[in-house]
Amino acid sequence: MESAIDPTTEPSTTLEIADVICMRCGCLCDDVILQIHDSKAVATKKACTKGSKWFLAAIPPVEEPICTIQGKPATLEEGLDTAAAILRTAKRPLIDGLSHTTVEAQQHAVTIAQAAKGVVVGTASAFQNRHSKGARAVGAVSATWGELRNRADIVIVWNSDPLSTHPRHFERYSLEPAGRFVPNGRADRTLIALGDEKNSTSSIADYVVTFSKNRDFEVATVLNALLKQIPLDADQVLRTTGITLDTLVELIATMKRAKYGVILHDPSAHRLSDIEHVTRAILELVTQLNNVTCFCYSPLGEGENSAGAEQVVAWKTAHTGTVDFTAENPQSSPYEETTEEILRERSVDAALLINTDPLADLEPKVWQWLGYVPTISISPSTTATSESATVAFRSSEFGRSVSGTIFRSDGVALPLRPVESSSYPSDEEILAKLSAKLTKREG
Ligand code: SF4
Repeated sequence: MESAIDPTTEPSTTLEIADVICMRCGCLCDDVILQIHDSKAVATKKACTKGSKWFLAAIPPVEEPICTIQGKPATLEEGLDTAAAILRTAKRPLIDGLSHTTVEAQQHAVTIAQAAKGVVVGTASAFQNRHSKGARAVGAVSATWGELRNRADIVIVWNSDPLSTHPRHFERYSLEPAGRFVPNGRADRTLIALGDEKNSTSSIADYVVTFSKNRDFEVATVLNALLKQIPLDADQVLRTTGITLDTLVELIATMKRAKYGVILHDPSAHRLSDIEHVTRAILELVTQLNNVTCFCYSPLGEGENSAGAEQVVAWKTAHTGTVDFTAENPQSSPYEETTEEILRERSVDAALLINTDPLADLEPKVWQWLGYVPTISISPSTTATSESATVAFRSSEFGRSVSGTIFRSDGVALPLRPVESSSYPSDEEILAKLSAKLTKREG
């Protein structure tokens, strides 16, 4: 891995940088080779098409003031003072965007939420939030993807399509690579696509089992009952799941024969209302399978540092999801899962927005509340949100010009290295200074 390079020294040279992390999907592939010419990514090697498009679409940063207050240029210190005053005055500020920054910056963001008695959104989406709730309720037997690479011989994809959503997961971790106990790679593995519709993944599966639309919970429950040897009515099973009892008996027998099985599951592939109970049912099945063989569950999570946000909020508050600091002790905020819901409720009176652009991403009737409250934006580029912010900080770009730590969905921490230098401070530096101002006042 090369160190950060100053583009001003050799403006017309094409630089090739190895081991760059792609953050487009939850795979967080850390082996990408990136070619940069005049501060613009011009080619990639090893990235999939989706990842390559993500790198090539990045716009080189342009020179802008380090900070603006009400649209007028200001120094960093002036911006920090104004931002601290906004957060001190607010009764319930929103702190959002943790999944778009490093673990180090996330920790400061949570400290700020705590000091300002605000509410912090600790998950990337409502899907991730519901999935976490389901997993928390029953616990998860899980494994790193390195372990899958070395051991998994039965790979079950549960109503998901990793070939489209996480294109290199099979190649890097779960299907193709040779591992210690699966030396022949793909030839040593059985891929089963279990779901309610055919997709790209089912087209390469060894077995495809298709059930009725949105019957994931029922299928997992029947498989669980079969494991426990509970007698079942074949007609009722067929009516409820759309699969014959014989097929499910065969499927559970295959699962039991695994030396090391895994269920890969993309929570965002379900209806939002189903995710929590489907996740619970699948996790209960995996737990039961461990009475007869080794089996684990592996979520196919979202990109950037969404897994890190969840972990940091849990370390620092003992809660996950949206955490509210307005009471004496932090509390989970069950009815406000997302920024969208919080803004709809108009339950906050200021906002600190880290690398997010709600004015571009949400409907006007949702984000318009931000027009009535003071906002602080941290962003590497000018966005609709940063342009209308009370205080806008210009930061170095996450994923391009900052170092730090990010987490993959399997809980493995990856070191993020800058591929290009920046004259702007990182999110971590800005948030650390803001946090110091707020906590100093409290002390
Ligand atoms: S699989 Fe995902 S993380 Fe890997 S290169 Fe493709 S988009 Fe990027």
